[in-house]
Amino acid sequence: MTVVNPLDIAPIQGSVSAAEWQARVDLAACYRLCDRYGMSDMIYTHITARVPDAPDQFLINPNGMLFSEITASSLLKVTIEGDILYRPDTPYGLHPAGFTIHSSIYRARPDAMGVMHTHTVAGMAVSALKCGLLPLTQTATRFYGRIAYHDFRGPERDPSEREALARSIGRHNYCILRNHGMLTIGESVAEAFIAMWGMERACQAQLQAMACNTELEMPSEDVVAKSCATYEHGSRRYGLLEWPGLLRQLDRTDPDFRS
Ligand SMILES: [Zn+2]
Repeated sequence: MTVVNPLDIAPIQGSVSAAEWQARVDLAACYRLCDRYGMSDMIYTHITARVPDAPDQFLINPNGMLFSEITASSLLKVTIEGDILYRPDTPYGLHPAGFTIHSSIYRARPDAMGVMHTHTVAGMAVSALKCGLLPLTQTATRFYGRIAYHDFRGPERDPSEREALARSIGRHNYCILRNHGMLTIGESVAEAFIAMWGMERACQAQLQAMACNTELEMPSEDVVAKSCATYEHGSRRYGLLEWPGLLRQLDRTDPDFRS
């Protein structure tokens, strides 16, 4: 009997557009970085990128590959209506909840080019707090007042959930899925990743501070407003400065994400 290695995936560079290939490389890098920085949940959750030259299509992980195994050629290509246009020769298909969540955003938000969803312990814990993410730290003020909250109604497999999620998110780029996890939207995968990294750190800091059983020092409303405004009108897009260094880090240790 021949044993097929599910990770033995034929490279597809050259058979897709240069724009799609670049999106594939960046998205594969994002999966590796998500895992490296402690934000993966085995095979669960999903990160996606819109295909730049085919706006009704997006790339998503094959359901069954660890985030540390994802490569540019392994990513599925699907339409926002759910047709699978490319699937590598593996046993792994499209995760229904992943499709529901991400297609909802690509349908409703033409500006969304990358979407990241996590189930980190800190993100799930803050998603279960009525107060949500508080402006307790400078990092948190980058997100405070700009986060959408979406109520939990069970795993997102029902197509009707797409409209409900899009309504909850509106024009926001950050979302806490109550009793579930977190989600970020970016004009690139890099932007979605850096936003998630910041939200994750803010959640971790809030939980550690709240666990200390002592009075918390909350910045004044004026200071919070000033800090929020500084971030909102910042002089640079997050991800542009950070991403090349993160790719260099991967190239030193995990260069096969580019295959
Ligand atoms: Zn989820």
